[in-house]
Amino acid sequence: MSIQNNLTQVQSSFKNPNCRLVAVSKTKPIEDLIEAYEAGIRDFGENKVQELQWKQPEMPSDVRWHMIGHLQSNKVKYIVPFVYLIHGVDSLKLLKEINKQGKKLDRKISVLLQVHIAAEDTKFGFDSEEVLSLLQSEEFQELSHVTIKGLMGMATFTENEDQVRKEFRGLKALFDQINQLALPELKEFEEVSMGMSGDYLIAQEEGSTLVRIGSAIFGARN
Ligand SMILES: *Cc1c(COP(=O)(O)O)cnc(C)c1O
Repeated sequence: MSIQNNLTQVQSSFKNPNCRLVAVSKTKPIEDLIEAYEAGIRDFGENKVQELQWKQPEMPSDVRWHMIGHLQSNKVKYIVPFVYLIHGVDSLKLLKEINKQGKKLDRKISVLLQVHIAAEDTKFGFDSEEVLSLLQSEEFQELSHVTIKGLMGMATFTENEDQVRKEFRGLKALFDQINQLALPELKEFEEVSMGMSGDYLIAQEEGSTLVRIGSAIFGARN
């Protein structure tokens, strides 16, 4: 199967045509990204700063680069000049650093707060209470160069669809709860990034607006 065929298959299976696709190209060579680009993809997801740094200049300038992996504060400065959306913000410290680097470049950086929804404790993220208190804190209100676009979560890696669905539903419920607060800083709070190759259909049924799909498009990673 070619990347083009995989893309067609993935996109035609979507439960919600308004849900947007981020093609997760981590570990894949530039030729594969170009093939996806030529098939119309503009949103690419990577999980390593170094890889983003070398791939970005190799691709056309209208690519929207999504940082989907765990981001260390000391590496923020390398991606802030070009990144489109940072999905995995999981601490106030990181949020402050993104704000600081955004300010230096006079660029407002779009981010998603990562929420820990999985049963496994290996995955990063805030819990619901932490997100709610962060968004209502004074420290958050002082951040002038970040825009919180929404939430991101990863479900448990399991065959149990009910569990995955329950976790996605919980993330969407938190998203709705935050929107009801109608905070003035959250005028652009509109994204729920959830769903990967194995669970994007469930995620879409539960209200995902952005799915991050890698192996179903580019094939298995080594
Ligand atoms: C790798 C990765 C994906 C894509 O995973 P696939 O199962 O290959 O679709 C999505 N989200 C994050 C955060 C990832 O690290």
